[in-house]
Amino acid sequence: MSNTDFVLAVEDLTVSFDGFKAIDALNLYVDKNELRVIIGPNGAGKTTLLDLICGKTRASAGSIKFKNGEMTKLPEYEIVRKGIGRKFQTPSIYENLSVFQNLEVSFPRGRGVFGALAFKRDDEVKNRVQAVAEEIGLADTLETEAGLLSHGQKQWLEIGMLLMQDPELLMLDEPIAGMSVRERELTADLLQRICKGRSVIVIEHDMDFVKRIAHKVTVMHQGKILAEGSMEQVQNDPKVVDVYLGH
Ligand code: ADP
Repeated sequence: MSNTDFVLAVEDLTVSFDGFKAIDALNLYVDKNELRVIIGPNGAGKTTLLDLICGKTRASAGSIKFKNGEMTKLPEYEIVRKGIGRKFQTPSIYENLSVFQNLEVSFPRGRGVFGALAFKRDDEVKNRVQAVAEEIGLADTLETEAGLLSHGQKQWLEIGMLLMQDPELLMLDEPIAGMSVRERELTADLLQRICKGRSVIVIEHDMDFVKRIAHKVTVMHQGKILAEGSMEQVQNDPKVVDVYLGH
């Protein structure tokens, strides 16, 4: 496979903060339909890497290509429009709106200006809300006020709000933080569902969860990639063992 076949190709990416390289000449390639998990100790650069990919932080050097298109210098909203969605740890849902309304307002707007088109679009929005609600397991709670949902359901709703935009790459920062055991199980199933037809990058600390969901694991350390492969491969890599045991 040549590099151009990847959904995401990050090459020689570097970002410095006051001379400190938080990301240091990093290369990362993610396939279509892949669920990649990024692990690494605190301060390894995981969040900064996702910030760079979604345009929240600007690279000092290197390139980020998405579906072969250069993304490195695009503004954040343009990157979202091209199909990259990012979910942060804290859900940013509208607590006073229903689940349906939360999903509805997340549908990309501004496609038509005529009444007939708008009417047709209403239907399109409804169908899309229904499909996404089913995907995130909230089809039975469409009329529920979002503020009344459980912590886990709020997280899934926010994933649903991103799915409304039909992203091809979804990036999630510790999606199971604060969840119950049952919610973690359901989130694992949800992630398996959403990476069919899309690529997903997850930052995660919980190794049991990583084992359960990852197609491939990238281990970061000091702004670089320390190891990459199956969970089993990286777990048995002496460099990884060293970093985690602090030798
Ligand atoms: P991780 O997500 O793996 O815990 P981060 O990406 O948050 O790591 O941080 C990597 C390093 O970059 C840390 O040493 C952090 O202090 C530093 N860093 C991140 N963002 C900034 C910033 N905006 N200014 C200065 N230093 C930063």
